[in-house]
Amino acid sequence: MGKSSKDKRDSYYRLAKEQGWRARSAFKLLQLNSQFNLFADVTRVVDLCAAPGSWSQVLSRTLPPTSTIVSLDLQPMTPLPGVTTLQADITHPSTLPLLLQHLGNKPADLVISDGAPDVTGLHDLDEYIQSQLLLAALNLATCVLKPGGGFVAKIFRGRDVAIVFAQLRCLFDRVTCAKPRSSRGSSIEAFVVCEGYSPPAGFKPSLETPLGLGAKFPESRRPSGRDKEEEHLVDGVKEVELREAEGGEDSDHVSREARYIAPFIACGDLSEFDSDATYALPEVDEFGQKWKSKDPIQPPTAPPYKTALEMRRQLGGGGSGGLPKP
Ligand code: SAM
Repeated sequence: MGKSSKDKRDSYYRLAKEQGWRARSAFKLLQLNSQFNLFADVTRVVDLCAAPGSWSQVLSRTLPPTSTIVSLDLQPMTPLPGVTTLQADITHPSTLPLLLQHLGNKPADLVISDGAPDVTGLHDLDEYIQSQLLLAALNLATCVLKPGGGFVAKIFRGRDVAIVFAQLRCLFDRVTCAKPRSSRGSSIEAFVVCEGYSPPAGFKPSLETPLGLGAKFPESRRPSGRDKEEEHLVDGVKEVELREAEGGEDSDHVSREARYIAPFIACGDLSEFDSDATYALPEVDEFGQKWKSKDPIQPPTAPPYKTALEMRRQLGGGGSGGLPKP
């Protein structure tokens, strides 16, 4: 696809280049923020799975200049002013001490994660890996968030997503599933917005016994006083199922498996671009000059296909050398 053809078919890709964002994902965070006011009173943020860094750009352009922003990714990230960038794997236990060290061992107000695997096209596998990234991000979040803090993460709305919402609901006062206008309607991608971190009494965040591996909420899975509100939500927002799981007496098992249908909010103003639509390109740019397609702000530093490209080059003369085109 030519550059200007992509500009036509993906207005957010074009706008990102024109407004100086490293990726079109910036608009997803901006639209989530305009709906949820995520950055109110926030000065300490962790941005997980942050490369190439458009969410970190949004943070550094929006938060007060003295804020602490720690961003990390498997991939190296080109530095950004006011942002500490780390190269680390969110699923690895060594990442938590690294994160805490760069937070000066003080809690964070907000943890955001846009983690996504290299999509294989095998939907079940992609969904599974994505859910593991979400779980890893949540486990890190529980270890660094202050009470009342927020957590925002990419989620694929697969078959069992209601179980993930239920687990999040045990830890946060409000859990919403949000779809920004810049996220393609045709994609199962959405964002879970969790507000008011308030884990149940006795909950001890730990990467040694992380969430997702069985017992974490020994007696009741919910903080006291929340059941009432939950019942209201059951009636009001269609809770689908609350059933006894086997071994309910055993505190090593989660005694009840809850599914929770989180309220769904489409965010972003209707006057903004529809990410699934194709638009005519502007004739002139913001300076009144003939409009020209711009280059991306930040080409990938170390894309997964880099090795393939290098091998192809070594194998001679630009031919594919039997390698598939990246
Ligand atoms: N929010 C970013 C932005 O605005 O520029 C875009 C994030 S991109 C959609 C997903 C990122 O997840 C990739 O950069 C990838 O390297 C990262 N990622 C995937 N698995 C990861 C892991 N286990 N640990 C850290 N980062 C990971």
